[in-house]
Amino acid sequence: MTHMLTCPCGWTVISPQGENDVKKHIVIHLQDTHPGTSMTEEEIKRIIKFI
Ligand SMILES: [Zn+2]
Repeated sequence: MTHMLTCPCGWTVISPQGENDVKKHIVIHLQDTHPGTSMTEEEIKRIIKFI
């Protein structure tokens, strides 16, 4: 199943490789684009969509 995750800023990652892959990308995005902002596992899971 393809996982899609959209950051509140509008940045989106789509990965066919699953949940762990989109989590990895959002963590990198947060560090790069929103330094000082972190999301918990729960928050990340809540915004992951399956397409
Ligand atoms: Zn963002």
